[in-house]
Amino acid sequence: MKHIAFLAESLLVTTDWQLPTELPSVAFCWPRPITTLQGRDAVCIYRLDYPVDCDGYQLVPLRQTHGRLSQDEYLLAGKAAELLYWDSNSKFCGCCGGPMRWQTEISKQCPYCGKELWPSPATAVIVRVTRGDEMLMIQSHKFKGDMYGHVAGFVETGETLEQCVARELMEETKIRVKNLRYFGSQPWPYPYGLMVAFTADYESGELEIQRKELRKAGWFRRDHLPTIPDEASISRWLIDDWLKERRT
Ligand SMILES: [Zn+2]
Repeated sequence: MKHIAFLAESLLVTTDWQLPTELPSVAFCWPRPITTLQGRDAVCIYRLDYPVDCDGYQLVPLRQTHGRLSQDEYLLAGKAAELLYWDSNSKFCGCCGGPMRWQTEISKQCPYCGKELWPSPATAVIVRVTRGDEMLMIQSHKFKGDMYGHVAGFVETGETLEQCVARELMEETKIRVKNLRYFGSQPWPYPYGLMVAFTADYESGELEIQRKELRKAGWFRRDHLPTIPDEASISRWLIDDWLKERRT
């Protein structure tokens, strides 16, 4: 049995970078698990109310556990983080206001009107646009430091993923693309999302950025890349994939 315990966004892990199989014996009563997952590795998920400071354990922001925890444990902890976020945001029934109760490990039901609810992470697209030997990269106001990434945005109601890519690119950069191809996807528990990544070829348009969203943007060659995201994000996977492509 693994235990996934969060204090806000920080995850309790052992000092040798594993999810604990035992909770530290500290002088307070542990809360009951918020929920459990009974898959291949049974897991109990907890929310901590105050810091744990004892030998053999550490509290680390989830994002910083990437590359230290095994990929399986990192993904499991991400799932737990999303469930905790969803739990905090689904206390009451949206139909009648009744108090929602856990029904299964991953769903809730209203005891009054019977409304069932499952987590529905926000879907976002991200796109790598290339033009010959160059890749389009942007810097959002939300990015820390001088890092650049790819155009990305949340899918709107009634929109296809392809339409979302075209809309986000037009809004943020005034660029049109062709040959849109699916690249891959990634749960993004910061706090509650699913990233769907595409690649595309430049078609037309002069780069003009939306100042409200972006600080700067540009076309970059492989040998002159700016600061890029770390390995935890699918934006980095898009870049690494492009770097591996043979130059044409
Ligand atoms: Zn209800």
